[in-house]
Amino acid sequence: MIKKLSCVLLFLAIVFCGCGKKQEVLNDSLTSIRQKDIVTVGVKVDTPPFGFLDKNGNNIGFDIDLAKFIAKKLLGDESKIAFVPVNTTNRIMKLSSGEADMVIATMSITPQRKMILDFSIPYHTAGQAMLVRKDSKITSLSDLKDKKAIIVYGSTVERSLSSSVPNIQIIGYKTYPEAFAALQAGKADAMISDDTILMGFAYNNPAFKILPKRYSKEPYAIAFRKGEESDKLIETINIELKEALNKGEIRQLKEKWGIN
Ligand code: GLU
Repeated sequence: MIKKLSCVLLFLAIVFCGCGKKQEVLNDSLTSIRQKDIVTVGVKVDTPPFGFLDKNGNNIGFDIDLAKFIAKKLLGDESKIAFVPVNTTNRIMKLSSGEADMVIATMSITPQRKMILDFSIPYHTAGQAMLVRKDSKITSLSDLKDKKAIIVYGSTVERSLSSSVPNIQIIGYKTYPEAFAALQAGKADAMISDDTILMGFAYNNPAFKILPKRYSKEPYAIAFRKGEESDKLIETINIELKEALNKGEIRQLKEKWGIN
């Protein structure tokens, strides 16, 4: 009888403890960032004006300023960041392996990426565009039929281009400077990427122009590992991002880096 009673009490204790408060998530990312007192952020080093290096090797750009803003909000100090260099090809791997707590790297939200990652709300919307030589006869994507186009591996355009232009020859590179150098060397007829990234390269190179048409909408957002561990972190960052968007702070940062 006593044994039966204690079994019932144990059962009730388990049920009520379980219902009373939500189970704590193991390895919650926000808690672990606060415990380490540093946030590791994957950023580009090859993509001006979002993520690149100054002549002293310091990380600079719009995405770097955004990372500093996040560090200030999470840890009260914008210098409590360790930057992890990523590129378009390896950024998901750097995040999944735990090398970075988050990635702020011109990364568009896409349905395929959402299957394996979680994202913040968007902080910028770019659009795919074409960069060609000033004297080029190419005026639209369809002119690239049977021609060569340069892309960066792992970018959204790598996926969309072969289905939108039949018989196009796609030449891929791992980084943006390599891709642009190949265009300068005449290895292809056009380079296709986000307008804001192409602008960064066209700006100092008057021999090239960006064609006016945009072929996609690219909502840039901060990427996180998928799962409950990221919920609190994303919720906290989204509140700050929303406020910064509403207060015009993000617009000011874009102006600083010549992004429109
Ligand atoms: N926004 C596009 C993407 O996420 C292109 C920019 C990039 O290569 O990072 O793939």
